[in-house]
Formats: sequence, structure tokens, C-alpha cells
Amino acid sequence: MKTTCSDKVIGDILAGWRYDISGLAPEMRGDYEQHLAECVHCHSRQVLHRTIDIVLMIVATVSAIMFLVAFGAVRHYSPRHALVLELIALAGFLFFSIVWLVVAVATPAPVVVADVARIQARKIQDRLPREIRERLPQGLK
Ligand SMILES: [Zn+2]
Repeated sequence: MKTTCSDKVIGDILAGWRYDISGLAPEMRGDYEQHLAECVHCHSRQVLHRTIDIVLMIVATVSAIMFLVAFGAVRHYSPRHALVLELIALAGFLFFSIVWLVVAVATPAPVVVADVARIQARKIQDRLPREIRERLPQGLK
């Protein structure tokens, strides 16, 4: 399915930001937020880009851990050429740590994760008052 942007000017600006408006001041976001809500094309692009960010971070995290495990294994079993293998493992770990950092700094993925955490926290908080209310009468008796 091919969609087109309903407002080319705003759409192009958003594309330049990789559909990330989290860095904008709240009073500047209005038009872009409205466009993202109304334009199917830009909204789907935004979802795609944020998905890519999160997948990249997961891949970088898993890769970094794998290289760290490899480093540990080389240290533990100390085969021949241990130093070379250790260096390769460390280089791999460093490389994917940097990838992770770049993705984390350059994209709003942490913001997305923080939003999810905030929504979860709110759900738990919504549940809390009821339990407190149930306990209150007992404490008051
Ligand atoms: Zn658009």
C-alpha cells in the first residue's frame, strides 16, 4: 500500500528529523504533532523509524554481550593465540557499545522506552489507590 503525505512541507521537515520531534520545545511541536496524528504516511514512517531504532539497540546490546561472553570464554579456556582472540572479542564489544551509544544519543529510542515505563508506572499507580482504600478501613477500625 502506497500512501502520500498530505502536507509536503511539513512531511519533508519531519523526514529530515527522522520523524523525531521529541527534541523540540513543547510550543513548537503542535503543528508537527497534529500532522503526525492526521497524516497516515508520516505516522507510519514515524512508527517504522522508532521500530528500527529499538531493533538496532537490541541487536547492538545482544552483540556487545556476545563479544563480552567470548572475551570471558577466551580468558577462561586460554587457548593458543589467546591474546589475539581477546583483542578481537574486546574490539567487538567496544564496537557494539559505540553503536548502542550512537543509537541511544541520535534517536529517541530511550524516550520511547521511558514512555513505555511511564505508562506502566501509571497503570500500577492506578491500581494502588484501590488496594490502599481496601486496607484503610481495617487500619481505621
Ligand atoms: Zn505527512
